[in-house]
Amino acid sequence: MENCIFCKIANGGIPSRTIYEDDDFRVIMDLAPATKGHSLLLPKEHYKNIYELSDGIAAKALPLAKKMAALISERLGADGFNIIQNNNEAAGQTVFHFHMHLIPRYNDDGQKLVMIPQEMTDAQMEEIRELIAMPDMEG
Ligand code: AMP
Ligand code: ZN
Repeated sequence: MENCIFCKIANGGIPSRTIYEDDDFRVIMDLAPATKGHSLLLPKEHYKNIYELSDGIAAKALPLAKKMAALISERLGADGFNIIQNNNEAAGQTVFHFHMHLIPRYNDDGQKLVMIPQEMTDAQMEEIRELIAMPDMEG
């Protein structure tokens, strides 16, 4: 992808603060970190989002995220960890090359990654469950 900044960064065409690299991935420090150590896990191959991600890269991404979470947490003394992954504008994606945010958290970091709970009736919950359940799931 010619005009994709994360393609260029992941493949070394643009310098970045890299903390890990292998044949499939590069992990870099986020330019505008939410907390100390906020990093981004980038596949070298271009996938726009999770809908397009190959099964092979998907299968490798979480073990790597797990390894990086442990490493970053240990080195920086984190008290917790968020992994966030945005897909499409509606979900806050701003760079359209699949990436996972690796965000170490600290008891006093003052950061808020907020989810606002919505009111749902039991009937609404059941209607939604039926829409999103895998086939053959019992109620
Ligand atoms: P998202 O909103 O999930 O698409 O996240 C994009 C993230 O990429 C943001 O946290 C940005 O701070 C980060 N970002 C954008 N450009 C760069 C860059 N050149 N190097 C490092 N991080 C970047
Ligand atoms: Zn790309």
